[in-house]
Amino acid sequence: MEERVCDCTYCDVVVPESAVTINGKVFCCEACASAHPDRQPCQDPECDCYNHGWGGLKS
Ligand SMILES: [Zn+2]
Ligand SMILES: [Zn+2]
Repeated sequence: MEERVCDCTYCDVVVPESAVTINGKVFCCEACASAHPDRQPCQDPECDCYNHGWGGLKS
């Protein structure tokens, strides 16, 4: 089974089977899928977005 990584610009999590798919891109959660419109963190504690408290850009 192929592992896919979240297509969010800000995180590198391997998406779960329940991944949100939009236009062929996969995201680990709704927050990522909507590109964090209100700077909302990921709901997934494993997500980099979450760990960065959402505010940190991926360097
Ligand atoms: Zn993500
Ligand atoms: Zn994200």
